[in-house]
Amino acid sequence: MPGDRHIEVVEVGPRDGFQMEHKFIPTETKVDVINSLIGCGIRKLEVTSFVSPRAVPQMRDAAEVMAGIDRTLGARLAALVPNVKGAENAARAKVDEMVVFLSVSESHNKSNVNRSVEESLEGFRAVMDVARVAKIPVHSGIATSFGCPFEGNVPVERVKMVVGRLLEMGVQGIGLGDTTGMATPRLVRERVETLTRAFPNIELTLHFHNTRGIGLVNAFEGLNLGVKIFESSIAGLGGCPFAPGASGNICTEDLVYMLHEAGYETGIDLGKLIEVARRVERVIGRELPGQVMKAGPRSALHSLTGSARAVG
Ligand code: ZN
Repeated sequence: MPGDRHIEVVEVGPRDGFQMEHKFIPTETKVDVINSLIGCGIRKLEVTSFVSPRAVPQMRDAAEVMAGIDRTLGARLAALVPNVKGAENAARAKVDEMVVFLSVSESHNKSNVNRSVEESLEGFRAVMDVARVAKIPVHSGIATSFGCPFEGNVPVERVKMVVGRLLEMGVQGIGLGDTTGMATPRLVRERVETLTRAFPNIELTLHFHNTRGIGLVNAFEGLNLGVKIFESSIAGLGGCPFAPGASGNICTEDLVYMLHEAGYETGIDLGKLIEVARRVERVIGRELPGQVMKAGPRSALHSLTGSARAVG
């Protein structure tokens, strides 16, 4: 049983990160990256999205990716499902968890899924029915939980209303997404405290983007408030293809490094994770924002002769 100091790091790079790459990443490469991440000790991943191939061509191989993943180590595989068709395909591919998603702000939801928030919530009922028959738990990703690029501040009461509706429907996990990096520690505190007070049994996941450079600070605030589950992307991949200027998720290796140095355990091998991050950078073909993969952990020593000229 994981102890009190155990934090679950959920890798979302293969979905949140890869989906915004224009150039198609070969299925074998995706599978290989996912299997390597599982090999590092990661036990939950959002691996793909059962969306329409027209909407997100990068995810058109969702079923093939699922089929290629090594299930023997027992990692839980989650996938996004936008509708009943996606849910049926996800069930057929034997996902361990379906993730329904919406934005709490009307304009972002409209631009992302072309529905009102109410229409999205109503649409989840049919997904829940498919999941119930297939005995697959449903989690949720709530975008713009900390602010909306089109509307600005998002009232915490609105987040609470949406969370209440999802829980009522039988959704098990609640993920607060900071799609465009608008979270601040104060907003994290307000939202986490409000939700845990209103729904004492809530299983809360925090999902930050590092758009304004304080993604890990927000995660640390969540940690201090008792949140146990955080989503991140290997090498800091990611972004939202529909939100102008949205940059990557907080970076998995950087998060794991921070957690370990703060005395938490994750079950993840940081050294191996850094190797995978470097490989992902080569796959993507451009510099990615991860920091620890460039500098190494603080315990990595440099040779004295080689670094003697570095001053300041
Ligand atoms: Zn995201």
